[in-house]
Amino acid sequence: MSADDFILALDQGTTSSRAILFDGDGIVRARAQRELPQIFPEPGLVEHDAQRIWHDTLATAQAAMADSGLEAGQIAGIGIANQRETTVIWRRDNSQPIHNAIVWQDRRTSAHCERLRQSGDDRLIQARTGLIVDPYFSATKIAWLLDNIDGARAAAEAGELAFGTIDSWLLWNLTDGARHATDATNASRTMLFDIHRQCWDEELCQLFNIPMTLLPAVCDCAADFGHTAKHLFEAPIAIAGMAGDQQAAMVGQACFTPGMIKSTYGTGCFVMLNTGTEAVVSQNRMLSTVAYRLDGHTTYALEGSIFVAGAALQWLRDGLKLIDAAPESEALARSLDSTNGVIMVPAFTGLGAPYWDADAKGAILGLTRDSGIAQIVRAGLEAVCYQSRDLLLAMQADAKSATAFGVDGNLSLSVLRVDGGMAENDWLLQFLSDILGVAVDRPAVTETTALGAAYLAGLQTGVFPSVDAITAQWRKKDSFVPKMAMEVRDRLYTTWQEAVARVRTVT
Ligand code: ADP
Repeated sequence: MSADDFILALDQGTTSSRAILFDGDGIVRARAQRELPQIFPEPGLVEHDAQRIWHDTLATAQAAMADSGLEAGQIAGIGIANQRETTVIWRRDNSQPIHNAIVWQDRRTSAHCERLRQSGDDRLIQARTGLIVDPYFSATKIAWLLDNIDGARAAAEAGELAFGTIDSWLLWNLTDGARHATDATNASRTMLFDIHRQCWDEELCQLFNIPMTLLPAVCDCAADFGHTAKHLFEAPIAIAGMAGDQQAAMVGQACFTPGMIKSTYGTGCFVMLNTGTEAVVSQNRMLSTVAYRLDGHTTYALEGSIFVAGAALQWLRDGLKLIDAAPESEALARSLDSTNGVIMVPAFTGLGAPYWDADAKGAILGLTRDSGIAQIVRAGLEAVCYQSRDLLLAMQADAKSATAFGVDGNLSLSVLRVDGGMAENDWLLQFLSDILGVAVDRPAVTETTALGAAYLAGLQTGVFPSVDAITAQWRKKDSFVPKMAMEVRDRLYTTWQEAVARVRTVT
């Protein structure tokens, strides 16, 4: 690995499409970004224009290449990281999507999920996939498309359609339809993939009434995914790495040892704990998922997802118009000693782990006549920290009952590695450290999702000889350590728990 090796990372996120060109030292050499419009057809429904996702991704890739002054022949490979679960179905003959992409946040299939719980099928699903039944995952979204788009089911049964999460959709277009593939991390989010046997599960496909001809081939995260079509860049570039964004961030944070943990604060927040070769069955409604698969060996993770993190700031900005930009939240939060009891539960799309309450709605509680913009904005930031504590406590409890993954059954977390857009907010990270009671480390490169995709492509193309080389390259930039008195923390957290209890529809 050297500064003369280059890798192009494509990071297709929920709110933007980015291309970042890294050198072999993990340094950003060029970047380009486009915002992605959100489509809200009805309350609870969230869609994206899949064609736009592809065209923006290509445009940012070409812009980053042009900006770097490098030629396609100098790029060792492309790595893809992507918003997960978001579902696209397209026609194989003309590459046209049959509908907008249904985004992970979309709740249209909550009744379907409820039926699966009522029938007890959720147990089989969790045993095979490690997932909790929820509209979040792809399977019920696929079923919805097949049942609601004219002619879709017949076309699927005739083998004319292809399903993919965003990684597969981008790969299909990058290779001009030559490759219909995904990687094990993205597959593990569909609710159709057996994470133990590492293959699509026939029984689950039957349960969801999804023809297996729709599904992509499943590869390792560092693999030969083909080459870019001739007309896209001046020379074909190998596509060599792929992972869902949270798993890519885990790789970018070099969390390769069991017990290591990272949390990404973007639109949502995702905490992932490396559990090594053991797929821990959570007793606390965490997800068990594939962290990465390299050389055919699967490493697992426990994951907790908070649906609304930075999205709460977007709502404060665009919905309530309390701020002009998310970074303003930092000065507002700092201007107060406390919110004076104002608590926001940002359950705009239900509550994720560990509550899994699809019908819960958001609330702002504890308002008094002197509550103002600063208290509400700060409450939005604090909510992210309380939810992080919810997740860490649940993971620690799971770790206690799972002794095999090398953390001696008594996981005492000492440090959390963070990244994502919200992790630029120093006040947030200090409050997070206070509420968790653990150190919070921010790395030198905060574009860890893109970096992880680049690392995966680098492993495949020989730019990085091993994961140890990646571990050696990871650099901490800032560390935040707990300063809050324990009784203050406990009091705040209790108020949070009481607020959550008020919005829950199931217990
Ligand atoms: P994604 O990859 O999910 O699109 P990003 O990692 O780019 O998200 O993070 C963007 C999110 O972070 C936005 O929701 C935005 O509101 C929030 N954000 C960005 N900067 C800050 C900040 N300084 N303080 C708080 N939130 C922020």
